[in-house]
Amino acid sequence: MYFRSTKSNEAPVSFKEAVLHCLPLDGGLYVPASVMDMRQYFLYMDTETTYPELAATVTPSLLQGELNPFSAARVAESAFDFEPELRRLDERFSLLTLYNGPTGTFKDFGIAFLAAVMEELLKNNGPAMIISATRGDTGVSIANAFRNRQNITAVILYPSGAIQGLDPAAYVPNGGNIIPIQVEGSFDECQWMVNEIIRDRPYADRYGITSANAINAGRLLPQSFYFLYAFIKIKKYLNGDLLFSVPSGNFGNLIAGLYAWKFGMPVNGFIAAMNANNAFGDFIKGQQFMPHPVKTTNSPALDVGHPSNYERLASFYEEAPAVMRNMVFPAAIDNDETLKALELFWKRYGIILDPHAAVAYEAAQRVSSAFDPDSHVVIIATGHPAKEAATVRQAIGQTIDLPQRLAMLREKADPLAVIKPNLDALEAAIASCF
Ligand SMILES: *Cc1c(COP(=O)(O)O)cnc(C)c1O
Repeated sequence: MYFRSTKSNEAPVSFKEAVLHCLPLDGGLYVPASVMDMRQYFLYMDTETTYPELAATVTPSLLQGELNPFSAARVAESAFDFEPELRRLDERFSLLTLYNGPTGTFKDFGIAFLAAVMEELLKNNGPAMIISATRGDTGVSIANAFRNRQNITAVILYPSGAIQGLDPAAYVPNGGNIIPIQVEGSFDECQWMVNEIIRDRPYADRYGITSANAINAGRLLPQSFYFLYAFIKIKKYLNGDLLFSVPSGNFGNLIAGLYAWKFGMPVNGFIAAMNANNAFGDFIKGQQFMPHPVKTTNSPALDVGHPSNYERLASFYEEAPAVMRNMVFPAAIDNDETLKALELFWKRYGIILDPHAAVAYEAAQRVSSAFDPDSHVVIIATGHPAKEAATVRQAIGQTIDLPQRLAMLREKADPLAVIKPNLDALEAAIASCF
């Protein structure tokens, strides 16, 4: 499968090129250039299939000629020592839990795969460096996934504020491969620096620089795997339409679901579950996209005003407007509705959701009532409820303890350098580590 820029159908590139260079020079983002029918691989998988097995089967067929089955099995084994979990709740709903990874959000899945596949792709290549901007836990996920990966250094940029959850033993001067840098500026400035440095090809080529942010296609592709995983676990119970309800902020998950459909997964719709930041809702219904100022809500990971994945969604829209209009159902859920849904779900199923999953549950109830009674919705639980304990307590009056692995995310760490938000300072800080 080749990848192309969202801004052009010309000059498709290999997966390796898309992963190691991250951004096409025309200002777009990489997306799969061709449709693959993967049904022959996953229609015969069943509830016995493990997640690494699924990944090890699907990856080499998607990336024929680039990753052989042995390499793919190595990647899947070394990436995933955690798995998604699908629980069928009743006739109407299932819950797909994606917070079993080291930092308690679905982002661990894409990052873990990217790190493992990069190490494999670099086996006969020079070294590479990933540069990523993060506000917090994603940095820990990146540091975990890339730690001790052969031939790869990971530079992580943080905006002003505390850095948490990193192990100094993994830093470059201590013999590791992680370089945390604090930028005296905002997250947007960190992200700007990442984009600039990747597009400065002579500099980027000197170090082999790419990004582990969601703009990297190597993070997007493996996110389609857990939609397939949910499907193989639930298919024998299905009698009618299948929908997924996806808590959506930057829309990476939703786009990955659309790709799973493109790969042949039989699915009838995706619910784009948003909070008050619902600028994409109008866009999905066919209006021009207007970024809105960000509103603060009780489902903070969905508080995104100007999603970087707009490019990918718009490109999908252009390709298949009918799919977008007839298969993607936007719903906006406010703070009160989120709390009520969290409480209702707990009373009904005895399971504590986080507020992002509660948004998805409420949206699922709303949208699926228009479908036939046999339809089934998989609700995607993107984050661990203990990470939003205050909101959970507000909704159900219960306190949940942070599991040990997540408590470690809250330990303070020092950066290796503190710099002004400009490229000269960043390049000097990187150079001083070698
Ligand atoms: C990042 C995140 C989201 C948003 O996912 P997108 O792919 O950006 O739409 C939702 N929930 C949680 C817990 C997250 O961390």
